[in-house]
Amino acid sequence: MRGARFLGDRKAEVTDFPDVEPGPNEVLIKTRASGMCGSDLHAYRSPAAEINTENRPGHEPCGEVAALGPGVTKARIGDRAMIHHYEGCGHCRFCREGYQQLCSNRGPWTKYYGGSAHGGHGEYMVVHESTLVPMPDAIDYDVGSMIACGTSTAWLALEKLQVSGRDIVAIFGQGPVGVAGTMLAAEMGARVIAVDLSDERLELATKAGAWETVNASNVDSVEAIRELTGGEGAHASLEAVGAGPTRKQAAQACRVFGRSALVGERGDATYDATPDIIHRHLTLYGSWTVSKFGMEDCANFIADHNIPMASLIERRVNIEDTVEAYEYFDKQTSGKMVITFD
Ligand SMILES: [Zn+2]
Ligand SMILES: [Zn+2]
Repeated sequence: MRGARFLGDRKAEVTDFPDVEPGPNEVLIKTRASGMCGSDLHAYRSPAAEINTENRPGHEPCGEVAALGPGVTKARIGDRAMIHHYEGCGHCRFCREGYQQLCSNRGPWTKYYGGSAHGGHGEYMVVHESTLVPMPDAIDYDVGSMIACGTSTAWLALEKLQVSGRDIVAIFGQGPVGVAGTMLAAEMGARVIAVDLSDERLELATKAGAWETVNASNVDSVEAIRELTGGEGAHASLEAVGAGPTRKQAAQACRVFGRSALVGERGDATYDATPDIIHRHLTLYGSWTVSKFGMEDCANFIADHNIPMASLIERRVNIEDTVEAYEYFDKQTSGKMVITFD
């Protein structure tokens, strides 16, 4: 089968991989769509010594069940599924709650599809039956792949923030996670202030339903958000960049009794605790991807509200074009990129 792999230092290749077969309690997935997530860029940019160069990346897989391994009880051939890209022990409390990424019983069975195990950037993949998340009929495979990580990461953070029509929400970073957050929060009724450094991404945010946009390369984003909110600041903020300065700005952009959620990974943050957090009575949330059930809720919300999530996809590419697709995605000015398979 054809698939891609990262070679380190922004190099990738598309090559032939051996065919795969499902083991006990596993299913073979015929990949139909595999999203490119901002966090894939961390691996893409890393030196070869720091990443697994053998495995196919891609932790936003979506496809159909093509074969069943021994002992599979629920999955059926032909089932359409999003893959929750973590496999855990299946027995601990977190696994039972659908948060396999938090599995407290780690061992060879704990896998990260698209990292420690093969992911979606290939024609087929093998996953544990427990990682399959059902998709509403109204959700296409490309949107299903978006929900498999980026979109539902934004979803869970917005849930924690309890976003509603009462809120102005500032969303820092309009990459695939942030712009999905913009679209979801707007559908929840909030007025969204989208912040980014790229005019292209801010244009997309406007199409996604942003109320206002702020290009932080031209202005002080905190000041701009205060001006847009009568001097008060946003009710809530979401940081989807993963950088110290924007984490601090996401706190400072909130009004008193505001709340801020962090989903962008890597690096640290320095707050001036008294003005930024304590005197602001700020509630700060961390949020790491989503549970299986959160993915399902997110997909149902998108289907029930007929949200045009596919309009956030800038390019659908063939697996053979994965190398060029990552070179383009690496510039961080694009919309969502999805590898699709016939
Ligand atoms: Zn991701
Ligand atoms: Zn577990």
